[in-house]
Amino acid sequence: MISDEIITKVLNEIDADELINLTADLVRINSVWDPAAGTNEQEIAEYVFKWAQQQGFEAQMDQAAPGRPNVILTSSFEPGKRTLMFEGHTDVVTPGDLSAWNYDPFGAQIAGRRMYGRGTNDTKGNLAAMLSAMAALKKSGIRLSGKIIGGVLCDEEDQMLGVRDFIQRGHADTITGAIICEPEDGFICITQKGALRARFTITGKMSHGAMPLAGLNPAPAVALLIQRLHKLEQATVKASGRDEFLGWPSFTPTVIQAPASGAPQLNVMPGEAQLLVDIRTIPKQSHPEITRQLKDLTGKIQKQVRRDYEAYDKILTVQRNSDLNLAQEILTDRPCTLTDRSDPIVQAAHWATLQLTGKEPEYAGVPGATDGTFLRSLKNIPIVTLGAGDRFVPHQVDEWVDLDQLIETAKIYALTALHYLYPENNT
Ligand SMILES: [Zn+2]
Repeated sequence: MISDEIITKVLNEIDADELINLTADLVRINSVWDPAAGTNEQEIAEYVFKWAQQQGFEAQMDQAAPGRPNVILTSSFEPGKRTLMFEGHTDVVTPGDLSAWNYDPFGAQIAGRRMYGRGTNDTKGNLAAMLSAMAALKKSGIRLSGKIIGGVLCDEEDQMLGVRDFIQRGHADTITGAIICEPEDGFICITQKGALRARFTITGKMSHGAMPLAGLNPAPAVALLIQRLHKLEQATVKASGRDEFLGWPSFTPTVIQAPASGAPQLNVMPGEAQLLVDIRTIPKQSHPEITRQLKDLTGKIQKQVRRDYEAYDKILTVQRNSDLNLAQEILTDRPCTLTDRSDPIVQAAHWATLQLTGKEPEYAGVPGATDGTFLRSLKNIPIVTLGAGDRFVPHQVDEWVDLDQLIETAKIYALTALHYLYPENNT
């Protein structure tokens, strides 16, 4: 049992003004990765590194890529079997068209109880909250066991180089549970959709639009492919059903291009077409199985289109070289994740949320991948995604976060760590 006195002692160390100022400082540093503009995660990493040193944390900076450092903070307590990680990313997506913003995207302006700016919601507010929670626990002097690692990572929005580097260097080896600090509006997210993205390239033969028999049009294969992908989606929906938190799995053709490169012209039959498909998965599906299905589909469609061309040539009494070719490659493979509700990290987040809000916590799922995807899939670390911020606001103009929810989140993070590393829960 953790006494009310201990809880109060920890919560008293969360300073709302410091948290808001820290969030504002982070938002004011433009950390969009944009080599042309010369912005990256270097400056924000240096800021966090300095802050961590001032707070007395053991801190280390690793270059995941040039100009793209990770900062790793460690807080060690008495020996214990658990190591908790708080993960928050430093990069933000581009503000896009500046004239569409009513607020300065890097101004951290406050209006009412909201702070506006790129990253307020995704995820600099939550990054500041996790840092404040770590600092509060340290200042409280409460006896805990085990360790907290703060992973302040680069490049979450693109290739997730930061978390990969973090894992490669062995930082994740002792972690037993992780809180992924992302805008989830206070929901405890225990599952995340997976992503499998593939490119199909269909190669025929280019010709004049007036002389189509001189070439081989890739278009019929593209049409067939789209139909078959939809059939595959229907079969998957039927077999795996709707996930309680993540909804339906999907196979979505997103880019359909012919010619695959160069300018399209109405009187030119393209020699090559490409189709990109964005597949989003739920835990009941298997990525190796889908990969096998896509490969199978490629072979079958190639065979069928060749056969169709040959049959049609007989009718037209022509003889084309019908060796149309279909190739397929997987561009991204990020598996789904699911953490058991009985896992201590989920229990800790549940207890902390209940303490703070006085209400039974609500559970949900994350529609996309996060850095947590890699911690789960490569290191088998149980993860919970949790944080302040409306779930539909990330990447929009006039991005904002509710300051009261942010303060509550810092407290939830601190109590989650308190519960997870409380000596009687962790021996
Ligand atoms: Zn994010």
